[in-house]
Amino acid sequence: MSVLVVIEHDRDQLADASLEALAFAADVAAQLGVDVEALLIGVDAVSLADECAAHGASTVHHVADASLTDYGPDAYGGAVASAAGVLSPSAIVASGSDRGNEVLAYAAAELDLPFVANCLAVKTADDWEMTRVQWGGSLNEEARLASSMPILSVASHAAEVAEPVTGATATVQTLEVTLPESATATMIQDRIVLSEGVTLATAPVVVGGGRGVGSAEGFEVLEALAAKLGGIVGCSRAVTNNGWRPHADQVGQTGTRIAPQLYIACGISGAIQHWVGAKAAKKILAINTDPAANMVVKADYAVIGDLFDVLPAITDIT
Ligand SMILES: Cc1cc2nc3c(=O)[nH]c(=O)nc-3n(C[C@H](O)[C@H](O)[C@H](O)COP(=O)(O)OP(=O)(O)OC[C@H]3O[C@@H](n4cnc5c(N)ncnc54)[C@H](O)[C@@H]3O)c2cc1C
Repeated sequence: MSVLVVIEHDRDQLADASLEALAFAADVAAQLGVDVEALLIGVDAVSLADECAAHGASTVHHVADASLTDYGPDAYGGAVASAAGVLSPSAIVASGSDRGNEVLAYAAAELDLPFVANCLAVKTADDWEMTRVQWGGSLNEEARLASSMPILSVASHAAEVAEPVTGATATVQTLEVTLPESATATMIQDRIVLSEGVTLATAPVVVGGGRGVGSAEGFEVLEALAAKLGGIVGCSRAVTNNGWRPHADQVGQTGTRIAPQLYIACGISGAIQHWVGAKAAKKILAINTDPAANMVVKADYAVIGDLFDVLPAITDIT
């Protein structure tokens, strides 16, 4: 028996969230006294086997069907369901990303089993007890699950990624799966690169701007500081609603959940929907004219002042 982790990747680029899923699965597997095994879907995905081993997988199951080179929810969900039928794992785990949740939802529907999304912690027993994130992070739910094969996704940043074990190897096994007729219902037709390099989700420093920035041009002072700090610019929904920045830059419940070493929130009030996307930052510096703003109250550090005075001053001394 094992805890089977569905590894998220895009054409063999491992998603960092998969390492969190492996770390989370290690805890569940330790409670059950079983191994962690990984499921790699995609023809060339087997190149990720060593990385899975370094993060705790003892066996890697590789599904190499040519129709699975690119992601498709029906096909990947069907592959997971079919693999579960062959391997009969104690539980199936994936990252709680949009893609991870989508794949597990399809797989759970195919297997006719319940799926618990966005778990923070799990205690295994006859009925499994889990804490999971609800309402975009506004509340945590205590839930019980009775299932022959629990299917769980891991909330973003819920598990600390373990240090990789140098030289670890896993047994690699090719797995034949039966795909549902709907497998080709949704397929990638074209790929457009929107951004390269550091992303909002992985940047060590994020300089975020809100309505207080006032215009698209106002973001130049944020770009200047981000460039000096090796960081990236993010924003609030007020900014994307105004068309000052693209939605890809939005931090929050309906944007990206960030976890940088430092988040510098400029002219952002700190509404709950923004806060849930920012709270995993290790340190937060708020720059705001309002000392009572939620972001100021919750931040580790705050500068009360006009961001157009404060930001150039910080940029000059860094
Ligand atoms: C379903 C739903 C989902 C949502 N999802 C998101 C989401 O994912 N992300 C998100 O961000 N929001 C989201 N929102 C919107 C959210 O509720 C807030 O409306 C939004 O975050 C406010 O953005 P803001 O802080 O930039 O603007 P405001 O709340 O207007 O705050 C502006 C701040 O700037 C300060 N300020 C003004 N001028 C200056 C200056 N010159 N220097 C320094 N400070 C200044 C003000 O004191 C104020 O604190 C969502 C809302 C809903 C209903």
